[in-house]
Amino acid sequence: MDILVVGGGGREHAIIWALAKSPKAGKIHCAPGNAGIAQLAECHPVAVNEFDKLKALAVELKVDLVVIGPDDPLADGIVDAFDSTGIPVFGPRRNAAEIEGSKTFMKDLLHKYNIPTAAYEKFDNYEQAQAYLNAQSIPVVIKADGLAAGKGVTVAYSREEADQALRSIMVEKVFGEAGAKVIIEEFLAGQEMSILAFVDGETVRPMAAAQDHKPVYDDDKGPNTGGMGTYSPLPHIPNSIIEEAVETIIKPTAKAMVSEGRPFRGVLFAGLMISPDGKPKTIEFNARFGDPETQVVLPRLKTDLLDIFWATVHGKLADMEIEWSEESAVCVVLASGGYPGPYAKGVAIEGLDQVSDAVVFHAGTARSESGEWVTNGGRILGVVGLGADIAEARNKAYAEAERIHFEGKHQRSDIAAKALV
Ligand code: AMP
Repeated sequence: MDILVVGGGGREHAIIWALAKSPKAGKIHCAPGNAGIAQLAECHPVAVNEFDKLKALAVELKVDLVVIGPDDPLADGIVDAFDSTGIPVFGPRRNAAEIEGSKTFMKDLLHKYNIPTAAYEKFDNYEQAQAYLNAQSIPVVIKADGLAAGKGVTVAYSREEADQALRSIMVEKVFGEAGAKVIIEEFLAGQEMSILAFVDGETVRPMAAAQDHKPVYDDDKGPNTGGMGTYSPLPHIPNSIIEEAVETIIKPTAKAMVSEGRPFRGVLFAGLMISPDGKPKTIEFNARFGDPETQVVLPRLKTDLLDIFWATVHGKLADMEIEWSEESAVCVVLASGGYPGPYAKGVAIEGLDQVSDAVVFHAGTARSESGEWVTNGGRILGVVGLGADIAEARNKAYAEAERIHFEGKHQRSDIAAKALV
C-alpha cells in the first residue's frame, strides 16, 4: 500500500516511522516532509495548504491512502477536497474538524450535550465582552475563537492582563478573523493531561495518555511553544480518572458529533484538566495527532498503525483491538536558541550519528549543500527514550540528547519530572 503523509514536523516523522514498520506499507511519500523524514519517505516540495497540488500529487503517485498531519488543512477542508480523487484520506472532514477550528462551536456542543467543560460566555462585540470580563474573578481565561497557531489563549492572572488580551484579539485584531469571536472562560485549577483517541463515528479507541510541556523554560516559565517535551504513560494519574475521561468526555463527544450530522473520523485529541477532587473537564479538542504527544504515543503502539488507519477510513474501527506496550516513553525537544521568538536557521547539527539508544524524530532539520545536517526551524529534534518506567525512559532521552550539539541548542531539563515525584 503506497501512502502520502501531509505535513513536515516531528509528528509526521513519528507517523511515518510507525507506518514504515507495517509489512503492508509500500512506498511512503511526504509533502513537504523534512530532512529527517527523507530517510524513510520520498519528500515532495508541496505545502500543506496547496490542496490542488496535493491532489494532483496523490493521483500521479497512485497512492492508496493519504494521511493528514496538521490542523490548518483539516480545518480548511482538505479531506472534502480529496473526494474528487476517490483516494481514502485519514482525517476528519471540515464539518468535524470544526471541533478544533472553532472554540465557540466546541463549547456550544459540549454545553448542549452536558459534557464537562469550564463555564463560559462567547462574544462578538468588544464592549459586551469587556463588561462581562469586568464582572469575572481573576484568574480568567480569554480565547480567540479560531486557529491562532497555538497563541490564541491567555490565562490572565491580573485584570490588566485580561483587558489587554481581550483588546489585542477584538480591537487590535492580532489574530485577524480567528479573533472575530472570543470565549471568556472560567479558570480551571488542577493537573493537565491529554488523551488521544482513534475515532470512527461512535467508535472510540483511546490511545495511551500523554502529557506535554508548553512553556519554553523549566518550571513552566516563559512563553508557550508548540511543546518542549512529552511523556507517556502518566503514572501519577490513576487509570480510573483516565477511564472516566474516556467515558464522560471522549465517547459522549464522538456520539454528539454523530448526532449533529458531523461524524468524526480520525484522531480526536482531548486536552483535559483534572480538578483537585479528581474530576476531568475538557479544555480543548484537537482534530489530529498532537505534536509532540505523537512522538511518545506511537512508539508504544503494538498494533499495526496502517491497519488502524485503513480500518478507520473504511468505517471498520469497531472491528479492531488496539494494543499498547507497557513501556514508558519520554520525548525531549531540542529547540533553536531564541524560540519561540526569532532564531537562526542553517546552524550545523553534530552528533546525530552518535545517538544509539533513543529514537530521534526530526521537526525542523535540513541538509546543507554539502549534505550536513542543519537547523531549519524553531523546534529541531525530539529525542525519545524508551524504558521500563518513566525514570529509565527519561534518563535515556536526556543522555542521548547530550550527544547532539548545535549552537544555541535549548532544551528543558524537567520534562516528565512531575511523573517522578
Ligand atoms: P488551549 O489552546 O485551549 O488548549 O489552551 C492552551 C492552554 O491554556 C492549556 O493547555 C491550558 O494550560 C490553559 N488553559 C486553557 N483553558 C483553561 C482554563 N479554562 N483553565 C485553566 N487553564 C486553561
